Amino acid sequence: MHKKIYIKTWGCQMNEYDSNIILNNFKKKKYKITKHPKKANILILNTCSIREKSQEKIFHQLGRWKKFKKKKNIIIALGGCVAKQEGKKIYKRANYIDIIFGPRNIHKLNKMIDLVLKKKKKIIKINSKSIKKFKTYSNIKHKKKISQISIMEGCNKYCSFCVVPYTRGKEISRPHNEIIKEILYLTKKGTKEIILLGQNVNAYNNTFNNNQYKFDKLLINISKIKKIKRIRFITSHPIELNNKIINVYKKTNKLSNFLHLPVQSGSNYILKKMKRIYNIKYYKKKIKNLLSIRPNIQISSDFITNFPGEKKKHFLKTINLIKKINFDYSYSFIYSPRPKTKSFNTIKKKKKISKKRLYKIQNQIKKQTKKWTNNMIGTIQRILIIGISNNNIMQLYGITDNNRKINFFGNNKIIGKIKKIKIIKINKNKLFGILIK
Ligand code: SF4
Repeated sequence: MHKKIYIKTWGCQMNEYDSNIILNNFKKKKYKITKHPKKANILILNTCSIREKSQEKIFHQLGRWKKFKKKKNIIIALGGCVAKQEGKKIYKRANYIDIIFGPRNIHKLNKMIDLVLKKKKKIIKINSKSIKKFKTYSNIKHKKKISQISIMEGCNKYCSFCVVPYTRGKEISRPHNEIIKEILYLTKKGTKEIILLGQNVNAYNNTFNNNQYKFDKLLINISKIKKIKRIRFITSHPIELNNKIINVYKKTNKLSNFLHLPVQSGSNYILKKMKRIYNIKYYKKKIKNLLSIRPNIQISSDFITNFPGEKKKHFLKTINLIKKINFDYSYSFIYSPRPKTKSFNTIKKKKKISKKRLYKIQNQIKKQTKKWTNNMIGTIQRILIIGISNNNIMQLYGITDNNRKINFFGNNKIIGKIKKIKIIKINKNKLFGILIK
């Protein structure tokens, strides 16, 4: 009988991507994927440790699975960033776990499971300097118009608040030819838009056949793939956004008119404490350069508030920057101290957490997002047509460069194409448009 496997993923797109690689490896070995943890013989939790809260949730989840283990002989495997960060310490809180594996060991999981079954002992594998895991594609069998692909992993920046360099390791870029091969594979399955993933995606740097491929070259080469109509990437570091990358926005209109560029704070004092290695003048200059090439480009960002040492005057600088850049969207959080990071060890922790500051950031961005959306009425937008609308089978829907969903009437034959749409109305936050002939 086929063994059944269940996987739960916490965290970012890269974790989702890794989970798909794991599932594809198991499918090859004739395992069945189940959506019901109770029916599974193997339970895998792929984790994120970016915030303390998410880490706690993981142990609650494991506690629920422990009960299944009492009823039948199952294997529990814990992977991802919490596994890498905590290692053996995990056994202190959950000694019933059979396998602990790091983000770069996902391709070894099949073998680890075989070993657990044979030798009935626990396995822990959390260290690896290479990224052989990408030998298996993540998106096998999927037929999505928009696909994500990891192009690099890890980070060398060591921002003082961030665990990524400790959990994902140093930056490693996938070979250029392998990325192109995977994208070509995806285009055969129907992919039209590609989202390049990496913790520091624009630091991509790979040498192949004595040629050096940095991020700008990779973007250009992907843009040459005829069937790829739009390219996005997350997450960028402002310091890696060099002029060569900015110039790619001039060279190809396949590069989306939307950029996520995390700034984290509007205060130079806090940026220095965060070890972000740029200041606000630098950040604004990068945006100005981009706008000189793409006057309509929209920018989203990440913010951390309540960072140790953040006073009201620093916070107000963040609010001012949000207004000045007119960010369209953001991911914002209250600072969460993480073990091993510089700010955890050396910066005195604040006693009182100010949720008010977070709400203020979120409210300001919400207002701006709404304004950006309302301003779209009457404009002509380039959309990638994804399929038939879920709400009205007579309508199609597509996604704009700035990530808005637009419904419109059209012929199914244009699904998968890039078309121009005039936005004519907005109803309960839903945009409606008409095709431009
Ligand atoms: S650049 Fe990003 S991933 Fe790297 S340490 Fe800083 S916040 Fe973390």
